[in-house]
Amino acid sequence: MTTTGFFGAFGGKYVAEILRRPLDELEEAFNASLKDTNFLFDLEILRRDFIGRPTPLLYAEKTSKDLGGAQIYIKAEGLAHTGAHKINNAVSQALLAKKMGKTRIIAETGAGQHGLATAAACARLGLECVVYMGEIDVRRQQPNVAAMELYGAEVRAVTSGSRTLKDAINEAMRDWAASFSNTHYLIGSALGPAPFPDMVRTFQSIVGKEVKKQSQERKLNVKALVACVGGGSNAIGFFEPFLDDKSVRLIAVEAGGVGEGRGNNAVRMAGDAQPGIVHGYKSRFLLDSDGQVGQTRSISAGLDYAGIGPQLADLGDKKRLEFTSALDDEVLDAVKTFARNEGLIFALESAHAGAEALKLAPTMNSSDVIIVNMSGRGDKDIFITSPVFRPDEWKTFLKSELERLEEGTEIHQSKIMK
Ligand SMILES: *Cc1c(COP(=O)(O)O)cnc(C)c1O
Repeated sequence: MTTTGFFGAFGGKYVAEILRRPLDELEEAFNASLKDTNFLFDLEILRRDFIGRPTPLLYAEKTSKDLGGAQIYIKAEGLAHTGAHKINNAVSQALLAKKMGKTRIIAETGAGQHGLATAAACARLGLECVVYMGEIDVRRQQPNVAAMELYGAEVRAVTSGSRTLKDAINEAMRDWAASFSNTHYLIGSALGPAPFPDMVRTFQSIVGKEVKKQSQERKLNVKALVACVGGGSNAIGFFEPFLDDKSVRLIAVEAGGVGEGRGNNAVRMAGDAQPGIVHGYKSRFLLDSDGQVGQTRSISAGLDYAGIGPQLADLGDKKRLEFTSALDDEVLDAVKTFARNEGLIFALESAHAGAEALKLAPTMNSSDVIIVNMSGRGDKDIFITSPVFRPDEWKTFLKSELERLEEGTEIHQSKIMK
């Protein structure tokens, strides 16, 4: 564990002078919180009663028997409130901000999952919440925007640049530089300037701690942990308590998208991501020939990112983590397999880890155990999976919904006319 903000060559605090103060203040408060019994008690209660922890460790019995190799277990983070692991970090940081005397939280979100978790945490803790989101993402992710607003958050559409996540990050940083006296910037993955990578890993490590306890209680012969990697928060939180145990393989799965070639995937560590400094930290990034952050592609919005958290980049370079990837098609198959066999619909992100487990299990002994982190559940993906699994029925459904709405409007208007 580091206190310098560096993980080997990666990490650091590459920010404008104005942001050093809030980052230093946050680092101090975070370090103090880990010894603050009031903070730890309040966090424990939130984890139990609001998030719904501990989440189960489920034996994937049918899948394991069908494959005839290692036994697969699923850490069901998807059963956490708001549907994914992101709430672990959002609630913890929001509580820390409140203890620091902050009254306002800002966040940025791409697909909206982090915004959703943050909005729910702020509603619970009585904090004002502003979520920056690229204008294009606002249009694409209306169900999440609607939910954030229901939780009382203000969603601000960012109209600069490419109008997507990276522009939303710039806007959030600009806001923070002007507002940090009462505002906390709640970053959603294990990346960004120090102390965020340390802090997010620490708050997500509850996942790995529970897995360790659950697997010891059941005397499981754990040989491999498998997690998907976007920025890296579910993976590093899951892996953290096992980093020193070299008998456990730690396998990180990136988005293989539609296959090889620039812009077709988000394969970074298993590909040729280059060292760079982006958004305040040093890590590995997919860069194009003129050094700009490259385009990425994935069926899962949460893994569609050109960079990776600095600790994961370092652990990858040091070969403690094994990086691999899964293609969009393999991911869709994995969603079907686990849904039918185990009664769990994996999020598309998490199904990358599921797909790797399906490949890995037959190569291992039946006494070995693989644990897959199901980082989220797939309800949110219905707008992506339905057009693939049931294209005609889905089109008919959307058309009839639209008709229903328009009819409804007419009825409403005719009432007003009278
Ligand atoms: C956001 C998200 C991810 C990717 O983020 P990490 O920080 O890499 O964990 C993975 N799974 C789900 C369900 C997500 O919502």
